[in-house]
Amino acid sequence: MQVLNGVHQIKTPAPAGVSWPTNVYVMEGGNGHILVDSGWDSQEALWTLQEGMKASNLKLRDIKKIVITHIHPDHYGLSTKIKQICGAEVAIHRADAGLISPRYKDFSGLLKKIEDLLRQNGVPSDELPELREASLWMNEYVTTDLPEVKLEDGDTISNDSFELEVLWTPGHSPGHICLYERKRKFLLSGDHVLYDTTPHVSFNPHSGDNPLADYVSSLKELARLKVTFTLPGHGPVFNALGLRVDEILAHHEERKRVIMRALDSGLQTAYGIAQKIPWRESSGGAAFQDLAVWDRRLAVTETIAHLKLLTQEDRVANVDMEGASLYMAKD
Ligand SMILES: [Zn+2]
Ligand SMILES: [Zn+2]
Repeated sequence: MQVLNGVHQIKTPAPAGVSWPTNVYVMEGGNGHILVDSGWDSQEALWTLQEGMKASNLKLRDIKKIVITHIHPDHYGLSTKIKQICGAEVAIHRADAGLISPRYKDFSGLLKKIEDLLRQNGVPSDELPELREASLWMNEYVTTDLPEVKLEDGDTISNDSFELEVLWTPGHSPGHICLYERKRKFLLSGDHVLYDTTPHVSFNPHSGDNPLADYVSSLKELARLKVTFTLPGHGPVFNALGLRVDEILAHHEERKRVIMRALDSGLQTAYGIAQKIPWRESSGGAAFQDLAVWDRRLAVTETIAHLKLLTQEDRVANVDMEGASLYMAKD
């Protein structure tokens, strides 16, 4: 579907059990197309991409550049296969390029670090194995290869029709990028800004020390740009980026208030606090215990991300006691 002149959006399917399709975008050019994000590595996703391009009178073989907003499997997964089919080069931010191997190939070290992190943050031992392995199934939907191009903030990727400026927006992943078409005033936002849900920001062994602080500051930077349309990695295209940024910032402020209230009753682990937060608010709300395994892990790691930010803001103290990482209100 052509969403802007020369910009085609194709919704590629997720594996069974995952509700969200991935939006991939083709920037049409006479000397080669640019593909932004690739979708999951599955037959269905590849076929949907091929058919979607055909419907717009475009050919898969004319893709010359593949730009990946971040290394999550729903964005990066299929890029290696598409590269093999069309000979295109793959470009990804340096920080995420460095995570490809430890996340998808030699991941035993990562699993150990995740287990240690979860244990330290209060996850009971009977829940540890399933939470530790909650994301492993996704590796089946990723084919890895090192990218030809490692991107930095300020780089540009262009064909004869579009010039995309790389904006490094860490938070959702350490090497997340948005792509800005300054002349045409549109933004490809990956998972950094979504219209109908709040992007996940988790503290994990690959996230950096304070991912939510990174996220909030890179989100505020975006609000300064002149953007008419935002083209996200999931959900609908939208305008009024500034309003959406304000809503997301307000969500995180509210979440921090809930956490501060939860700390009224004494020292707690991130796991203990996660039990007291209403999750999935955009779809009616759910208690922690009712979340699927993967969502429970995200709930714990998102809670840690908020606690790290509150600690940096000097509202919360973090102390290690009896083998657990405990938080206490300073207000
Ligand atoms: Zn993502
Ligand atoms: Zn995504």
